Amino acid sequence: MGTRLFFHCSGRDLPDPAHPAFDSFVVSGNLITQVGFGLERHSAWKDLPRTDLGGAVVLPAFADSHVHFLQTGLTFLGCRLDEATSLDDVCDRLRHHAARHADDWILAWNLDETMLREKRLPTVAEIDRAVPDRRVWISRVDLHSAIPNSAAVRWAQQVHPTATLHHDYYYRDDYVILFSRLMRDLPRAMKERALELARRWCLGRGITTVHALEGGWAATNDDVELVADFLARPGFHGVVYHQSEDPALARRRGWPRLGGCLMVDGSFGSRTAALSAPYADDPTTSGVIYRDETHLDRLVSLCADHGLQLAMHAIGDVAIDRLVAAYRAGVRRYGSRALGHRIEHFELPTPTAIAGAAEAGARLAVQPAFEVLWGGPAAMYARRLGPERARRTNPFRTLRAHGLALAGGSDSPVTPLDPFLGIHGFVNHPTPEERLSLAEALTAFIVAPHAFAGEERLRGHLQPGFIADFVCLRRDPCQVPADQLRTLRVDRVFVGGQEVPPDHFQEEPA
Ligand SMILES: [Zn+2]
Ligand SMILES: [Zn+2]
Repeated sequence: MGTRLFFHCSGRDLPDPAHPAFDSFVVSGNLITQVGFGLERHSAWKDLPRTDLGGAVVLPAFADSHVHFLQTGLTFLGCRLDEATSLDDVCDRLRHHAARHADDWILAWNLDETMLREKRLPTVAEIDRAVPDRRVWISRVDLHSAIPNSAAVRWAQQVHPTATLHHDYYYRDDYVILFSRLMRDLPRAMKERALELARRWCLGRGITTVHALEGGWAATNDDVELVADFLARPGFHGVVYHQSEDPALARRRGWPRLGGCLMVDGSFGSRTAALSAPYADDPTTSGVIYRDETHLDRLVSLCADHGLQLAMHAIGDVAIDRLVAAYRAGVRRYGSRALGHRIEHFELPTPTAIAGAAEAGARLAVQPAFEVLWGGPAAMYARRLGPERARRTNPFRTLRAHGLALAGGSDSPVTPLDPFLGIHGFVNHPTPEERLSLAEALTAFIVAPHAFAGEERLRGHLQPGFIADFVCLRRDPCQVPADQLRTLRVDRVFVGGQEVPPDHFQEEPA
C-alpha cells in the first residue's frame, strides 16, 4: 500500500463541515497519518507519490446504519416498482420484466400504493392478467406485506396451508412465513450476485460502511454468514446485526451485538405498527404487537448475559413505549451491561418515551428519507395516522434536544441507499421545528453510525489514526440550498486510501 500524499482539496471534518480543516493529507497503508495545509511543499512529504484532488471538497465517507444488504441486492435483480405511477404501469413493468427473465419467480419490490394514481394495491386477478403463467410476488415497499398472483397463491397453499389472503395480500405472520420460505429457496449464486450489486451501489453513493441487518425471518444462518464473509473482503466495510433471538451465531463469529429489524410491531404502510388509537384510514385496526413485555425483558436479559448490544424495530407509540420500558428495566437490573441498545425507526414516540429512551441511554437508528417520501399533510403518514399524529412523526430536533444519539440510515431497500436523500430529509423535515442543521445531518450519516457499532475511534473522521475512507464532491454541501441537498452526488470515492474505479459504481439497477 505504501504512503501517499493527497493535495489540492478543501478538506472538511465534523462537527464543523463549513470550514476547511486541511488542504492536504498523508495516507500510510490504509490510515491517515497527517493532515494540514500545504504539505506538498514541506520537505518531509514533498517527494511522496501524490494524488491531485483537483480542488474538490473532501468529506469522510458515508455510513448507513440500517441496511438489509442481501435484500437490497436482490431487489436490483428483480422488478423494482419504486417509480410506478399507476396500476397499469405496475402491470407493464411486470410484463416487461417477465419477458426479459426466464426465472420461475417474478420477484417485484418496492410497491408503494400511496404513490399510485389509484391509491390502492393491485388485486390477484389484475396481476394474473399481466403475468398468468409464472409465480409473481410483489413486496410492498415496507417489506411487511406482499401481493401474489394465482400461481403464487397455489405455491403458498402448499408450503403454508393455513395462509390466508387479507383482501388480496398476505400480511402479519402469514407474510413472514411465506417470505422467509421464498428467500430461503433462492439459489446461492443469485445471492452472491445480489451482494456485489449492493456493494457497488453503496460505493457509487459514497457509502463505504454499512450496518447490515440480516437473517432472522428473512434468511437462514447460511445467508447471514454469506453476507458476513462478503463484507469482510477488502474494499468495503460492514458490520453484521443478526436478526435473531439466538445469540449462537453472533457469539461464534465474535459479533458483540444481536437483532436489527427484530420486530416489536409492524409498519404504518401495512397498518401493522402498534398504535394507541386506531388507524385513520382503517378504524378496525390499531396495528400488531409481535413481541410483548415478557418477551422483550427476556431478550434484554439474554443480551446482558452474553454482553451483546441489542437492536429492535419499533415504530408505533405503543411498541416504542414497551421497548423503552424493557430497556429502562434492563438498565435498572443490569446497569451498564444494558446501556447503548438500539431502537430502529422510533417514528411515533410519546414525550414520555423520548425521556425514557434518553434515560436508558438508547441509541436511535432513524431513516429521515421516510419523511421525504411519506411525511407532510398529504402523504402516507397523514393518510394512515390523520393530521394530528402525522405532525408528530420522526421528531428529530426534539430527540436531539433530549441528548439522544441519532444515526442516519436508509432501511434499504425500503428507501434508496443515498445519504444525500437522508440528509435532505433531516434538513427539510415537513414540520419545521423538527429540522436538523446540515452539520447535525452530516454527523448522523458520517460519524454517529460508527459510534453505534463501537468503531468511533477508527472511522468517521479525517484525522491521524483514522481509516482513510473519504469522498470528493464537486459542490460544497454548505453552499447548496437546503431544498436541493438531495441532488448532490459524490464524484470520487476512496476506501482505505485506494480510489474506487468508477466502473465499480452501480448506477442503475441491473
Ligand atoms: Zn424495521
Ligand atoms: Zn429494516
